Amino acid sequence: MIRPNSSPEVHELANTLGVESNDPAVDIVVHCRQWVDRWVAEAGGIGPPGISDINALETLIKRKLSMVVEEIFSEDDFVRLTDKYARGMGEYVFAGLRAKFDDPETPTFGVLIQRRTADETAPDRFIAVVDCRSDASGEKFARRYFTKWHEIAHRMTTHRFPADIAYRSEDDPIETLMDAVASEIGFYEPFLSPALQDALAHDNWLTFEMIESIIQRVFPDASFQATLFACMRLTPTPMVYVEVADEPLSIQKTIPNAAAYAHWQRADEQDRVTEDSTQQNIRTTRISCGELVQPGSVFYRVQAGELLYDEIEHHLCDFFPPNDASYLGRFPCDATERSAHNGHNCAHRGVLAHIQARRVPGKLIALIQY
Ligand SMILES: [Zn+2]
Repeated sequence: MIRPNSSPEVHELANTLGVESNDPAVDIVVHCRQWVDRWVAEAGGIGPPGISDINALETLIKRKLSMVVEEIFSEDDFVRLTDKYARGMGEYVFAGLRAKFDDPETPTFGVLIQRRTADETAPDRFIAVVDCRSDASGEKFARRYFTKWHEIAHRMTTHRFPADIAYRSEDDPIETLMDAVASEIGFYEPFLSPALQDALAHDNWLTFEMIESIIQRVFPDASFQATLFACMRLTPTPMVYVEVADEPLSIQKTIPNAAAYAHWQRADEQDRVTEDSTQQNIRTTRISCGELVQPGSVFYRVQAGELLYDEIEHHLCDFFPPNDASYLGRFPCDATERSAHNGHNCAHRGVLAHIQARRVPGKLIALIQY
Protein backbone atom coordinates (compact mmCIF):
# COMPACT_ATOMS: atom_id res chain seq x y z
CA MET A 1 0.00 0.00 0.00
CA ILE A 2 1.36 3.39 -0.97
CA ARG A 3 1.05 5.80 1.91
CA PRO A 4 3.50 8.63 1.29
CA ASN A 5 2.27 10.84 4.10
CA SER A 6 2.75 8.23 6.75
CA SER A 7 6.13 7.18 5.41
CA PRO A 8 9.15 8.05 7.57
CA GLU A 9 11.31 8.37 4.41
CA VAL A 10 9.04 11.11 3.07
CA HIS A 11 9.18 12.99 6.41
CA GLU A 12 12.94 12.64 6.40
CA LEU A 13 13.19 13.93 2.82
CA ALA A 14 11.03 16.95 3.72
CA ASN A 15 13.42 17.69 6.60
CA THR A 16 16.45 17.40 4.34
CA LEU A 17 14.85 19.78 1.84
CA GLY A 18 13.87 22.24 4.57
CA VAL A 19 10.16 21.75 3.86
CA GLU A 20 8.28 22.19 7.11
CA SER A 21 4.90 20.57 6.83
CA ASN A 22 2.22 18.34 8.27
CA ASP A 23 1.57 17.04 4.79
CA PRO A 24 5.12 16.51 3.54
CA ALA A 25 4.26 14.58 0.35
CA VAL A 26 2.05 17.36 -0.99
CA ASP A 27 4.39 20.08 0.14
CA ILE A 28 7.46 18.50 -1.46
CA VAL A 29 5.58 18.58 -4.78
CA VAL A 30 4.64 22.22 -4.16
CA HIS A 31 8.23 23.02 -3.17
CA CYS A 32 9.59 21.61 -6.47
CA ARG A 33 6.93 23.46 -8.43
CA GLN A 34 7.82 26.77 -6.75
CA TRP A 35 11.48 26.17 -7.46
CA VAL A 36 10.73 25.73 -11.17
CA ASP A 37 8.39 28.76 -11.16
CA ARG A 38 11.24 30.90 -9.84
CA TRP A 39 13.63 29.71 -12.55
CA VAL A 40 11.01 30.39 -15.22
CA ALA A 41 10.39 33.91 -13.88
CA GLU A 42 14.15 34.61 -13.87
CA ALA A 43 14.38 33.33 -17.44
CA GLY A 44 11.77 35.84 -18.64
CA GLY A 45 8.53 33.97 -17.86
CA ILE A 46 6.36 31.79 -20.08
CA GLY A 47 6.35 32.49 -23.81
CA PRO A 48 8.89 34.24 -26.04
CA PRO A 49 11.42 35.62 -25.30
CA GLY A 50 11.39 33.49 -22.12
CA ILE A 51 10.38 29.83 -21.88
CA SER A 52 8.20 29.13 -24.89
CA ASP A 53 7.59 25.41 -24.69
CA ILE A 54 8.19 22.23 -22.69
CA ASN A 55 11.54 21.59 -24.41
CA ALA A 56 12.80 25.01 -23.38
CA LEU A 57 11.62 24.30 -19.84
CA GLU A 58 13.48 20.98 -19.81
CA THR A 59 16.67 22.66 -21.06
CA LEU A 60 16.39 25.32 -18.37
CA ILE A 61 15.78 22.81 -15.57
CA LYS A 62 18.64 20.52 -16.66
CA ARG A 63 21.01 23.49 -16.78
CA LYS A 64 19.98 24.66 -13.31
CA LEU A 65 20.45 21.13 -11.97
CA SER A 66 23.83 20.46 -13.73
CA MET A 67 22.17 17.51 -15.35
CA VAL A 68 22.35 15.72 -18.69
CA VAL A 69 19.86 13.14 -19.99
CA GLU A 70 21.17 10.21 -22.04
CA GLU A 71 18.58 8.14 -23.91
CA ILE A 72 19.02 4.49 -24.83
CA PHE A 73 17.25 3.66 -28.09
CA SER A 74 19.40 0.71 -29.20
CA GLU A 75 22.17 -1.58 -28.01
CA ASP A 76 24.70 0.76 -29.66
CA ASP A 77 23.82 3.41 -27.10
CA PHE A 78 25.23 1.25 -24.29
CA VAL A 79 28.52 1.04 -26.22
CA ARG A 80 28.47 4.80 -26.76
CA LEU A 81 27.88 5.51 -23.05
CA THR A 82 30.60 3.06 -21.98
CA ASP A 83 33.05 4.77 -24.36
CA LYS A 84 32.09 8.25 -23.31
CA TYR A 85 31.78 7.91 -19.56
CA ALA A 86 33.64 4.73 -18.49
CA ARG A 87 36.62 4.85 -20.89
CA GLY A 88 36.63 8.59 -21.39
CA MET A 89 35.97 9.85 -17.88
CA GLY A 90 36.70 6.93 -15.58
CA GLU A 91 33.04 6.59 -14.53
CA TYR A 92 33.01 2.81 -14.49
CA VAL A 93 29.41 2.43 -13.37
CA PHE A 94 28.42 3.19 -16.98
CA ALA A 95 30.05 -0.03 -18.17
CA GLY A 96 27.52 -2.07 -16.19
CA LEU A 97 24.38 -0.26 -17.31
CA ARG A 98 23.17 -2.86 -19.78
CA ALA A 99 23.07 -5.53 -17.09
CA LYS A 100 21.10 -3.21 -14.82
CA PHE A 101 18.53 -2.28 -17.46
CA ASP A 102 18.13 -5.84 -18.67
CA ASP A 103 17.78 -7.44 -15.24
CA PRO A 104 14.51 -9.40 -15.48
CA GLU A 105 14.05 -9.39 -11.68
CA THR A 106 14.01 -5.62 -11.24
CA PRO A 107 12.99 -3.90 -14.45
CA THR A 108 14.74 -0.52 -14.57
CA PHE A 109 13.35 2.32 -16.64
CA GLY A 110 15.87 4.98 -15.72
CA VAL A 111 18.79 5.75 -13.40
CA LEU A 112 20.34 8.92 -12.11
CA ILE A 113 24.10 8.83 -11.68
CA GLN A 114 26.20 11.38 -9.85
CA ARG A 115 29.60 11.51 -11.58
CA ARG A 116 32.37 10.91 -9.09
CA THR A 117 35.02 12.60 -11.21
CA ALA A 118 33.04 15.80 -11.89
CA ASP A 119 33.68 18.94 -9.87
CA GLU A 120 30.93 21.04 -8.30
CA THR A 121 30.63 23.38 -11.27
CA ALA A 122 30.52 20.75 -14.06
CA PRO A 123 27.36 21.13 -16.18
CA ASP A 124 27.18 17.32 -16.44
CA ARG A 125 27.60 16.44 -12.79
CA PHE A 126 24.46 14.29 -12.88
CA ILE A 127 23.60 11.95 -15.75
CA ALA A 128 20.10 10.50 -16.09
CA VAL A 129 20.05 7.43 -18.31
CA VAL A 130 16.60 6.67 -19.70
CA ASP A 131 15.72 3.38 -21.36
CA CYS A 132 13.69 4.24 -24.48
CA ARG A 133 13.97 0.86 -26.22
CA SER A 134 10.90 -0.76 -27.71
CA ASP A 135 10.80 -3.98 -25.74
CA ALA A 136 8.13 -6.64 -26.22
CA SER A 137 5.54 -4.80 -24.11
CA GLY A 138 6.46 -1.40 -25.55
CA GLU A 139 6.27 -0.06 -22.00
CA LYS A 140 9.75 1.42 -21.74
CA PHE A 141 9.39 3.29 -25.02
CA ALA A 142 5.93 4.58 -24.07
CA ARG A 143 7.10 5.71 -20.65
CA ARG A 144 10.35 7.37 -21.77
CA TYR A 145 9.05 10.91 -21.31
CA PHE A 146 7.71 10.25 -17.84
CA THR A 147 10.86 8.29 -16.88
CA LYS A 148 12.98 11.31 -17.80
CA TRP A 149 10.90 13.61 -15.58
CA HIS A 150 10.96 11.02 -12.81
CA GLU A 151 14.78 11.19 -12.84
CA ILE A 152 14.64 15.00 -12.88
CA ALA A 153 12.35 14.74 -9.82
CA HIS A 154 15.01 12.63 -8.08
CA ARG A 155 17.63 15.26 -8.83
CA MET A 156 15.40 17.95 -7.27
CA THR A 157 14.77 15.93 -4.12
CA THR A 158 16.60 12.72 -3.17
CA HIS A 159 19.71 13.72 -5.19
CA ARG A 160 19.72 17.39 -4.28
CA PHE A 161 22.38 16.91 -1.66
CA PRO A 162 25.07 14.18 -1.57
CA ALA A 163 23.53 11.43 -3.59
CA ASP A 164 21.32 8.84 -2.05
CA ILE A 165 21.98 5.59 -3.88
CA ALA A 166 19.31 3.45 -2.27
CA TYR A 167 17.54 1.07 -4.59
CA ARG A 168 13.79 1.40 -4.28
CA SER A 169 11.05 -0.82 -5.54
CA GLU A 170 8.31 0.62 -7.72
CA ASP A 171 5.77 0.85 -4.90
CA ASP A 172 8.13 2.60 -2.49
CA PRO A 173 6.52 5.82 -1.13
CA ILE A 174 9.50 7.86 -2.39
CA GLU A 175 8.97 6.48 -5.92
CA THR A 176 5.27 7.43 -5.77
CA LEU A 177 6.31 10.90 -4.66
CA MET A 178 8.79 11.16 -7.57
CA ASP A 179 5.96 10.30 -9.98
CA ALA A 180 3.85 13.09 -8.48
CA VAL A 181 6.72 15.58 -8.92
CA ALA A 182 7.31 14.28 -12.47
CA SER A 183 3.65 14.83 -13.38
CA GLU A 184 3.65 18.31 -11.84
CA ILE A 185 6.80 19.46 -13.66
CA GLY A 186 6.71 17.32 -16.83
CA PHE A 187 3.14 18.51 -17.49
CA TYR A 188 3.86 22.03 -16.32
CA GLU A 189 0.53 23.70 -15.65
CA PRO A 190 1.27 26.98 -17.52
CA PHE A 191 1.58 24.82 -20.68
CA LEU A 192 -1.03 22.17 -19.92
CA SER A 193 -3.82 24.40 -18.62
CA PRO A 194 -4.33 26.58 -21.72
CA ALA A 195 -4.16 23.53 -24.00
CA LEU A 196 -6.74 21.75 -21.87
CA GLN A 197 -9.06 24.78 -21.74
CA ASP A 198 -8.75 25.09 -25.49
CA ALA A 199 -9.68 21.45 -25.97
CA LEU A 200 -12.62 21.69 -23.56
CA ALA A 201 -13.95 24.97 -24.98
CA HIS A 202 -16.50 23.29 -27.24
CA ASP A 203 -17.21 20.15 -25.29
CA ASN A 204 -18.44 19.16 -21.88
CA TRP A 205 -16.14 16.23 -21.40
CA LEU A 206 -12.61 15.13 -21.90
CA THR A 207 -12.11 12.73 -24.79
CA PHE A 208 -9.22 10.51 -25.86
CA GLU A 209 -8.96 12.57 -29.05
CA MET A 210 -8.42 15.70 -26.95
CA ILE A 211 -5.62 13.97 -25.04
CA GLU A 212 -4.01 13.04 -28.36
CA SER A 213 -4.24 16.58 -29.66
CA ILE A 214 -2.68 17.93 -26.44
CA ILE A 215 0.18 15.43 -26.81
CA GLN A 216 0.71 16.45 -30.41
CA ARG A 217 0.67 20.16 -29.73
CA VAL A 218 2.33 20.45 -26.33
CA PHE A 219 4.01 17.27 -25.04
CA PRO A 220 5.09 15.41 -28.20
CA ASP A 221 7.05 12.65 -26.41
CA ALA A 222 4.60 11.99 -23.60
CA SER A 223 2.61 8.79 -23.30
CA PHE A 224 -1.16 8.71 -23.61
CA GLN A 225 -1.65 7.50 -20.05
CA ALA A 226 0.65 10.03 -18.36
CA THR A 227 -0.99 12.87 -20.31
CA LEU A 228 -4.47 11.58 -19.49
CA PHE A 229 -3.62 11.47 -15.78
CA ALA A 230 -2.19 15.00 -15.87
CA CYS A 231 -5.35 16.27 -17.61
CA MET A 232 -7.59 14.45 -15.12
CA ARG A 233 -5.66 16.13 -12.32
CA LEU A 234 -6.51 19.59 -13.67
CA THR A 235 -10.13 18.90 -14.65
CA PRO A 236 -12.67 20.16 -12.09
CA THR A 237 -15.47 17.75 -13.05
CA PRO A 238 -15.61 14.21 -11.62
CA MET A 239 -14.08 11.39 -13.67
CA VAL A 240 -12.73 7.93 -13.01
CA TYR A 241 -10.09 6.06 -14.98
CA VAL A 242 -10.79 2.33 -15.16
CA GLU A 243 -8.74 -0.62 -16.37
CA VAL A 244 -10.52 -3.81 -17.35
CA ALA A 245 -8.63 -7.01 -18.16
CA ASP A 246 -9.71 -10.36 -19.54
CA GLU A 247 -10.43 -13.28 -18.93
CA PRO A 248 -12.99 -13.25 -17.40
CA LEU A 249 -13.39 -9.53 -18.04
CA SER A 250 -13.11 -7.74 -14.70
CA ILE A 251 -12.24 -4.30 -13.32
CA GLN A 252 -8.59 -4.24 -12.27
CA LYS A 253 -8.00 -0.64 -11.38
CA THR A 254 -10.01 2.49 -10.65
CA ILE A 255 -8.41 5.90 -10.22
CA PRO A 256 -10.67 8.88 -9.52
CA ASN A 257 -9.58 12.44 -10.08
CA ALA A 258 -9.72 14.87 -7.18
CA ALA A 259 -13.30 15.97 -8.00
CA ALA A 260 -14.59 12.39 -8.07
CA TYR A 261 -12.67 11.57 -4.94
CA ALA A 262 -14.15 14.55 -3.11
CA HIS A 263 -17.59 13.57 -4.34
CA TRP A 264 -17.26 10.15 -2.87
CA GLN A 265 -15.87 11.48 0.39
CA ARG A 266 -18.54 14.10 0.90
CA ALA A 267 -21.54 12.18 -0.35
CA ASP A 268 -24.50 12.54 2.00
CA GLU A 269 -26.00 9.53 3.64
CA GLN A 270 -28.86 9.44 1.14
CA ASP A 271 -26.52 9.56 -1.87
CA ARG A 272 -24.61 6.65 -0.55
CA VAL A 273 -25.34 3.21 -1.77
CA THR A 274 -24.68 0.08 0.17
CA GLU A 275 -23.41 -3.25 -1.16
CA ASP A 276 -26.94 -4.79 -1.00
CA SER A 277 -28.90 -2.10 -2.76
CA THR A 278 -26.48 -1.83 -5.67
CA GLN A 279 -26.38 -5.55 -6.33
CA GLN A 280 -30.14 -5.63 -6.88
CA ASN A 281 -30.18 -2.78 -9.37
CA ILE A 282 -29.68 -4.14 -12.86
CA ARG A 283 -29.73 -0.74 -14.54
CA THR A 284 -26.69 0.33 -12.60
CA THR A 285 -23.09 -0.50 -13.40
CA ARG A 286 -20.90 -1.17 -10.41
CA ILE A 287 -17.46 0.42 -10.67
CA SER A 288 -15.48 -1.51 -8.15
CA CYS A 289 -12.10 -3.22 -8.22
CA GLY A 290 -12.33 -6.95 -8.75
CA GLU A 291 -15.89 -6.63 -10.11
CA LEU A 292 -16.66 -8.96 -13.00
CA VAL A 293 -17.91 -7.14 -16.05
CA GLN A 294 -21.37 -8.45 -16.93
CA PRO A 295 -22.24 -9.16 -20.57
CA GLY A 296 -24.23 -6.21 -21.82
CA SER A 297 -22.55 -3.89 -19.34
CA VAL A 298 -21.49 -0.42 -20.31
CA PHE A 299 -17.92 -1.65 -21.02
CA TYR A 300 -19.00 -4.30 -23.52
CA ARG A 301 -21.34 -1.90 -25.22
CA VAL A 302 -18.93 1.00 -25.43
CA GLN A 303 -16.28 -1.27 -26.86
CA ALA A 304 -18.67 -2.49 -29.51
CA GLY A 305 -19.59 1.12 -30.23
CA GLU A 306 -23.24 0.49 -29.37
CA LEU A 307 -23.73 2.99 -26.62
CA LEU A 308 -25.99 5.82 -27.65
CA TYR A 309 -26.01 9.30 -26.26
CA ASP A 310 -29.53 9.15 -24.74
CA GLU A 311 -28.74 5.82 -23.14
CA ILE A 312 -25.75 7.38 -21.46
CA GLU A 313 -27.91 10.07 -19.97
CA HIS A 314 -30.01 7.56 -18.11
CA HIS A 315 -27.30 5.20 -17.09
CA LEU A 316 -26.31 5.05 -13.44
CA CYS A 317 -22.96 4.06 -12.00
CA ASP A 318 -22.19 3.13 -8.42
CA PHE A 319 -18.63 4.09 -7.66
CA PHE A 320 -16.85 2.18 -4.96
CA PRO A 321 -13.68 3.58 -3.42
CA PRO A 322 -10.41 2.67 -5.14
CA ASN A 323 -8.57 -0.27 -3.61
CA ASP A 324 -5.27 1.53 -3.38
CA ALA A 325 -4.33 4.89 -2.02
CA SER A 326 -4.04 6.80 -5.24
CA TYR A 327 -6.19 9.46 -6.68
CA LEU A 328 -5.28 12.13 -9.18
CA GLY A 329 -5.30 15.23 -7.08
CA ARG A 330 -2.27 17.35 -6.56
CA PHE A 331 -0.86 14.23 -5.07
CA PRO A 332 -2.01 10.68 -4.52
CA CYS A 333 -2.98 11.13 -0.92
CA ASP A 334 -3.54 8.71 1.86
CA ALA A 335 -6.96 7.47 0.89
CA THR A 336 -6.63 4.29 2.90
CA GLU A 337 -7.31 5.83 6.26
CA ARG A 338 -10.18 7.85 4.89
CA SER A 339 -11.80 4.89 3.21
CA ALA A 340 -11.55 2.95 6.45
CA HIS A 341 -13.12 5.91 8.22
CA ASN A 342 -15.98 6.19 5.75
CA GLY A 343 -16.67 2.51 5.51
CA HIS A 344 -15.40 0.34 2.66
CA ASN A 345 -18.76 -0.84 1.44
CA CYS A 346 -20.23 2.54 0.65
CA ALA A 347 -20.37 3.76 -2.92
CA HIS A 348 -21.73 6.92 -4.36
CA ARG A 349 -24.08 6.93 -7.30
CA GLY A 350 -23.53 9.09 -10.34
CA VAL A 351 -25.37 9.63 -13.61
CA LEU A 352 -23.02 8.71 -16.41
CA ALA A 353 -22.35 11.65 -18.71
CA HIS A 354 -19.70 10.18 -20.96
CA ILE A 355 -17.67 7.04 -21.20
CA GLN A 356 -14.96 6.17 -23.67
CA ALA A 357 -13.02 2.93 -23.77
CA ARG A 358 -10.11 1.68 -25.81
CA ARG A 359 -8.25 -1.59 -26.14
CA VAL A 360 -4.52 -1.34 -25.38
CA PRO A 361 -2.09 -4.30 -25.14
CA GLY A 362 -3.42 -6.68 -22.49
CA LYS A 363 -6.33 -4.58 -21.28
CA LEU A 364 -9.18 -2.19 -21.88
CA ILE A 365 -8.89 1.34 -20.52
CA ALA A 366 -11.89 3.57 -19.97
CA LEU A 367 -12.60 7.09 -18.81
CA ILE A 368 -15.93 7.55 -17.05
CA GLN A 369 -17.32 11.03 -16.53
CA TYR A 370 -20.45 11.82 -14.58
ZN1 LIG B 1 12.91 6.50 -8.91
